[in-house]
Amino acid sequence: MRRLFDTLIAAYGPQHWWPAHSVEEMMIGAILVQNTSWQQVAQVIARLKQEQLLAMAPLRQLPAAAWWQRLRPVGFFRVKQQRLKALADFMAAYDDQTEALFQLDTLSLRQQLLAVPGIGKETADAILCYGAHRPLFVVDAYAKRLFSRLGWCTTASDYDSIQQLVHRALPADPDLLGELHALIVEHGKNHCRKQPVCIGCPLLFCPAYER
Ligand code: SF4
Repeated sequence: MRRLFDTLIAAYGPQHWWPAHSVEEMMIGAILVQNTSWQQVAQVIARLKQEQLLAMAPLRQLPAAAWWQRLRPVGFFRVKQQRLKALADFMAAYDDQTEALFQLDTLSLRQQLLAVPGIGKETADAILCYGAHRPLFVVDAYAKRLFSRLGWCTTASDYDSIQQLVHRALPADPDLLGELHALIVEHGKNHCRKQPVCIGCPLLFCPAYER
């Protein structure tokens, strides 16, 4: 795992995630990016920022229909509006103060986030790692695909077992775990795609590379 990290960072450099100017923006982005690419999300975030709507209060106050057109570029816009509203309702209990929410210990915080409709393990751990700076590795489709090709898990492995694989191998360092996730995404876009582009792949230790 350490060799994977060292190789990827040498190949792609630091990724500077999460690309957000505030924790609130990061949390909203984590929901918007579900099942879509960051390009679409960045476009929507820029517009919301321009309209001064990138905050929890407007998500509660504006009617759903007012959001649909704005969220359309990220896909599943009705579902995502409901999820953002659920997140904003949840944050109301903390006066929209992420500092207050992040007073909770990691386990309680994770449980609370997972209880919000539309927040699954991947989104919760992204908020925990990049927003609350907790040492949790975010497992996504890119990580699962890469690790299974490296022979470290199977395509049937579940979220928790893949996460444990990383947590056992690396120090509990949010910066390190966050960087690894970002690097795996970058690698998944450049080389380890659904149809892998193994020529030029920096991971010379991958069994598929030799083939
Ligand atoms: S060698 Fe191919 S399968 Fe292995 S990590 Fe690189 S791109 Fe993915």
